[in-house]
Amino acid sequence: MQEAARVRDISTSLIRRMFEVVVEAKKRGVDVINLGIGEPDFDTDERIIELACKAKKEGYTHYTSNLGIEELREAIAERYGVEANEVMITAGGSEALMNASLSFVERGSKVVIPSPNFLSYFVYAKLCEAKTVQVLTHPDFSLSVKDIGEAVDENTSLLFLNYPNNPTGAVEDSRKLKEVVEIAEDSGALVVSDEIYDCIYYDRKPANLVNHENVVVVNGFSKSLAMTGWRVGFVIARKELINSMLKVHQVNGVCAPSFAQKAVADAFAEGIFDDVTEKMRSAFRERRDYIYPALKKLGFEVVKPEGAFYVFPRIPENVDLNCVDFTERLVMKGVAVTPGVAFGDGNERYIRISYAASLDSLKRAVERMKEFLEEFS
Ligand code: PLP
Repeated sequence: MQEAARVRDISTSLIRRMFEVVVEAKKRGVDVINLGIGEPDFDTDERIIELACKAKKEGYTHYTSNLGIEELREAIAERYGVEANEVMITAGGSEALMNASLSFVERGSKVVIPSPNFLSYFVYAKLCEAKTVQVLTHPDFSLSVKDIGEAVDENTSLLFLNYPNNPTGAVEDSRKLKEVVEIAEDSGALVVSDEIYDCIYYDRKPANLVNHENVVVVNGFSKSLAMTGWRVGFVIARKELINSMLKVHQVNGVCAPSFAQKAVADAFAEGIFDDVTEKMRSAFRERRDYIYPALKKLGFEVVKPEGAFYVFPRIPENVDLNCVDFTERLVMKGVAVTPGVAFGDGNERYIRISYAASLDSLKRAVERMKEFLEEFS
């Protein structure tokens, strides 16, 4: 049995390898601090769990409308200043990204992805049998409107944007983002603005690219409410684009879990949403304020993250290891991070550190990294 061409060159080897490396280190008795994880280290708020239990008892155990429950669509619409019929609930942000890709990426067209960026975008482009064009944003991880203008042309079907960014934590200037949206519009390309980290920011509030003709905003509650396992996401787009994505969603996610949708709707109604996000944001800010100067002191070149819970330092020049070897050796010293190559071109000398871990773990991890780096001086 042959794999279909569209999946043949999608690789899971790096993720598998990193997993194996951590398992191997643990087997050898190394106590590993895992800073490779892409989710909040907080559990879902107890009040939301209670709301979900109540919803299940009230009968929220069936399919919902494919578009999602009305209360949740309305709560999201109000928050983002759009109409409820411009919102569709999905089974997590990932399903939303897949729906948008399958709906708007033509086979053989170009998908433009700034690098570094979330690994999945490259996979969606491959699944749609599109050509990927990467626009490098190093060293400051800031978008160049000129570079985007050169990459986007009439063969471009889609441009992925993700701010606050995974893996860099970059937040982009809203005026610049609007210029980029216009460039895409002039070429007839769609922008998918993945705003899944929009509640996790420290300095300036990230832009929300709603109410643009050619933008599909993807978001969800995995990160903002620490609900990764609940699978509730959403898209915001004009009605015609929602209708196209509904064609995929009706056979893909079908609907997000009904009790989870209801629990989130009630969390909005009871004012729990902002309370939860505010608490997490302040914990992440404290960690960001620790890890950023600590990494600089260790000799990494670091861009200060302004959002999400990642930092993407450049390996010091005196360390003669690429990011995969660096990561594998560091695990044996008790710290797991993600090699930069997982996030696109130009990232061979970078690692992603997730600071969704306690301040105490971060301090111990920094101590271990210090000892590791001393081996190269
Ligand atoms: N978009 C980005 C940038 C992410 O980092 C992630 C998860 O790590 C997702 C989307 C997917 O989120 P979800 O769990 O809602 O599918």
